[in-house]
Amino acid sequence: MRDGNMHIAYLECTLCGERYSADQVRYVCPKHGDQGILDTIYDYKEIAASTNPQLLSESRDLSIWRYSELLPLENPRTSAPPLQVGWTPLYSAARLGAKLGLPHLLIKDDGRNPTASFKDRASAVVVAKARELGVETITTASSGNAGAALAGLAAAAQMPAVIFVPQTAPQAKVAQLLMFGAQVLLIKGTYDQAFDLCLAASEEFGWYCRNTAYNPYTVEGKKTAAFEICEQLTFVPVGAKHPDSQSGVVTLEAQRTASPLQKWRAPDRIFVSVGDGNIISGLWKGLRDLSALGWIDKMPRLMGVQAEGSAACYNAWRAGTEQIAPVDAHTIADSISVGLPRDGRRAVRAVGATNGAYLTVTDEEILAAMRDLARHAAVFAEPAGAAAYAGVVKAAREGLAKSDETVVCLITGNGLKDIASAMKAAGEARVIELELDEVRRAVKL
Ligand SMILES: *Cc1c(COP(=O)(O)O)cnc(C)c1O
Ligand SMILES: [Zn+2]
Repeated sequence: MRDGNMHIAYLECTLCGERYSADQVRYVCPKHGDQGILDTIYDYKEIAASTNPQLLSESRDLSIWRYSELLPLENPRTSAPPLQVGWTPLYSAARLGAKLGLPHLLIKDDGRNPTASFKDRASAVVVAKARELGVETITTASSGNAGAALAGLAAAAQMPAVIFVPQTAPQAKVAQLLMFGAQVLLIKGTYDQAFDLCLAASEEFGWYCRNTAYNPYTVEGKKTAAFEICEQLTFVPVGAKHPDSQSGVVTLEAQRTASPLQKWRAPDRIFVSVGDGNIISGLWKGLRDLSALGWIDKMPRLMGVQAEGSAACYNAWRAGTEQIAPVDAHTIADSISVGLPRDGRRAVRAVGATNGAYLTVTDEEILAAMRDLARHAAVFAEPAGAAAYAGVVKAAREGLAKSDETVVCLITGNGLKDIASAMKAAGEARVIELELDEVRRAVKL
């Protein structure tokens, strides 16, 4: 079956397995409401007939749209908002990894997206979908980054956006929303409450709703990170022995070989922080797509990292259940401060199915991870981004990750998003008199 230019076969309820055609349902399984999150299943034979790793390696489109054949859109050539999302750098972080006994550590910096977080991947796909559906206004609830991403991508598409965020969102994220011209509604309540109000408003006013996981295509945008990791691993050097691994930057050209590229390369583990559980579900979805196409030979273990004070998925995984019990969330990492993960069931499944694990980290460990990442790999992450690296540190210490494994740590947001936390991690700068002696006393090299 084929919908226009899309290769979607059907949408499948992750709870009951019921299948729907893509034009039959807009959001969730009608039988299960917001528990009935949908997976998008493609016709992989059709995709394999129109693209492959070699063709993709020749693509000059350095954005998520290089994977258009694997995205749920009719015609991204015209519907994709004109803002460059994705194809973020994958750095060999051999020096940082060596300190942990993980010489094959790589860092993917998704803070390098246009609104400085991973959420741009989902928002780009959802805005493109909104344009194809012909809806006029788009909306989302957000703890900050999803809203900033939607506001930015809606601005690129000249589409009005209404964003619901908790009043407590970091100022930089609210500044982004206002700057991009979104209608910003600060909620006297939590992200979870903003989510429900946004849903009600989208039903009442007919706005297209991007709410994480409720909209089946957020995960489809987020899966592009898994594609990039496996494609970039075919040319990014891994490990301390490689001459370029100090800088970690290698061009596509340098690694091009004569024989056609048949397959991509999957890492052994991917570490990612988890709030709603939509990013980790997206990574898993991307990896499942690649397995179905035969483009990767193994399934990486997904390592979900949660803040100790916001560990609903971790708790369910520990208890061996997909039933998520809500928690009273509190952590410095606002982007993963989630009481009731909206994609929790699938997020627990992603870790179980890939033989991965969940870990928790404290706020102190997150602040230390922010410093180490910035000082030893020059990647400035917001707390929720650095949490993934705090998880790598913990896994290395506990022998969960091994020295011969290729380990990817996904940094999901830029540190300028939350200056208050950065100052907490980095300490205060020193004020001196206008005297050379003061300089001599103050500088320690
Ligand atoms: C949203 C977000 C996460 C967590 O993603 P979920 O899909 O909610 O699990 C992690 N880090 C940053 C920076 C985010 O914005
Ligand atoms: Zn269902």
